[in-house]
Amino acid sequence: SAIFYVDIATKATMRLSQLAMRDYLTSVMNRTSFDSYITETINEQKNKTTALAVMFLDIDHFKDINDNYGHLCGDELLKQFAHLIMANINKNDRVARYGGEEFVVFAEVLDYTQMIELAEQLRKKVETNIFGKDEQERKITVSIGSLFIPSFANVEASDVLAQTDKLLYQAKAAGRNCVITAEIK
Ligand code: GH3
Ligand code: MG
Ligand code: MG
Repeated sequence: SAIFYVDIATKATMRLSQLAMRDYLTSVMNRTSFDSYITETINEQKNKTTALAVMFLDIDHFKDINDNYGHLCGDELLKQFAHLIMANINKNDRVARYGGEEFVVFAEVLDYTQMIELAEQLRKKVETNIFGKDEQERKITVSIGSLFIPSFANVEASDVLAQTDKLLYQAKAAGRNCVITAEIK
């Protein structure tokens, strides 16, 4: 009957919009949905009673992985990396793939200290995890820039991005495999 086909069409539409929101390789939020998510989340922060951490995570020397082991191995590591991060944040926190080997985490945190602990925990999980498949074990490290946004903060998404990016840059400059944090200015 007609209802049957409407149901199929509705489910197909939902499936398509879900696919459009997710990164094809890692299945975390993709860049397109990230852009609207960050604007929305940062806008809502002015009414929020909880603090927010915005973290940029960039895998260290990832080009070497591709060069040494091939692009397919690189792809597999990106997938495993995304899954490892998802497994180590809370259910209501979010991960997005911002670009190639760069990811963003949005996490609700109690205070600045807890943000540092979470970022350090993610960094250590990556450092100690064995990536790769079968006999091909690979180790990687990640640099993290993490910005603290207090409750009731009235800030712009563009400022959040710019400041978090700067922190990540500092983490790279400081030698990689480390966390640099700050409170939003
Ligand atoms: P750094 O420690 O400074 O971040 O060095 P890096 O090598 O990680 O950074 P760089 O920006 O020089 O290189 C990023 C590499 O990520 C280059 C590119 O080939 C690789 N990459 C980006 N997207 C993908 C992808 O989808 N799959 C694979 N396999 N590699 C990717
Ligand atoms: Mg990198
Ligand atoms: Mg990068």
